[in-house]
Amino acid sequence: MMAACGSTGTTTVESTGNDSTAAAASQQSFDANGAMEFTRQQCDFGPRVPGTAAHAQCADWLMATLKASCDTVILQTGTVQTATEGKLGIKNIIGVINPQATERLLLLAHWDTRPWADNDEDEANHRKAVMGANDGASGTAVLLQLAKQLKETGTSLGVDILLVDAEDMGVNDNEDSWGLGTQYWAGHPHVEGYKPLFGILLDMVGASDATFSREYYSMQYASGFVDLVWKNAAGNHFINAQGGAVTDDHIFVNRAGIPCIDIIDMRSDSPTGFCPVWHTIHDTIDGIDPATMGEVGQTLLNVIADLTE
Ligand SMILES: [Zn+2]
Repeated sequence: MMAACGSTGTTTVESTGNDSTAAAASQQSFDANGAMEFTRQQCDFGPRVPGTAAHAQCADWLMATLKASCDTVILQTGTVQTATEGKLGIKNIIGVINPQATERLLLLAHWDTRPWADNDEDEANHRKAVMGANDGASGTAVLLQLAKQLKETGTSLGVDILLVDAEDMGVNDNEDSWGLGTQYWAGHPHVEGYKPLFGILLDMVGASDATFSREYYSMQYASGFVDLVWKNAAGNHFINAQGGAVTDDHIFVNRAGIPCIDIIDMRSDSPTGFCPVWHTIHDTIDGIDPATMGEVGQTLLNVIADLTE
C-alpha cells in the first residue's frame, strides 16, 4: 500500500499563511528557547534506543521533568513484539494536567530514536543509531515546554502529555511494526474509558524549513480537528494544503476511537517524503531551529486558548 513511515500522494501548495482573524490567539507566548534546551538535554543522553542505558536515563529524566509540571505522572511499562528484534520492553510516560477535568486534550510525541540510520547516504552508517534531534526529541521538547508553561499560567482544560516509546523500530511494508508504544497504550489506556476531545501528535517539528501540511490520515479520521488546529496556526510553516499520508502514532490512536491528527514535517520535493536528514546520522542538534518549535508550541497554546474561551 505504502512505505511505512514514508509518504504517498502529493502535496499541492495552494496557499501559505493562516487565517489569523479566525484564530483565538493565546495571551501567552511560547518559549522557543526553553524547547530548544529540552531538545539539547535529550540529545545529551545520546540516541534513545529502547533497551540502552541512554534510553533508561532519558526515561528517568522525562519522568522528573514532567513531575515538575504535571499533577500526576504515570510510567507505563510493557512488552511489545518488534519486527526484527524479538520482544522488547518499552516505557510510555504520561503527564496528566488537571486530572479532574472532563474536557481533555491529548498531546503526544514519540521519545525513542531509531536504532538504524538506514536512510543514510553512506551504507556504513546503516547500523548506527539515529540521534533523533528532530525525529524524537523535537516533538517531546515542545510538549515538555508546554507543560511547564501550563503549570505557570494554569488552564481549565485537562491536558494529557503522552510520550510514547518504540515508534521508530519499524520496517517497510509492515504498518503494524511502527508505533509499538502507542499500540500498547491504545490497548492499555492510562485511564479506563479514556475519552479526550481529540489528540494532536507532533513528529519532526524542529527543522528550519519544515512544512506542515494537512496530512492524509488526519483528514480522513479527524478533518474538523485539522481545521481547528490550522485555524490557530502560528507562523508560516503550516501550509493550508492537503499533504501526503504517513504511518505514524496517530493511526493507532484513531483506530482506538480517539480522533487524532499529526503535525509532521513532510516534503513533496524529497524522495523519502521527509527532510533530508531523516533516518540518517545527520539528524543532530545542529539541524534544529527553535523558531520552528516555537511556532508549533504557540499553535498548541492558541488551540488550548480556543478550547477554553
Ligand atoms: Zn523516524
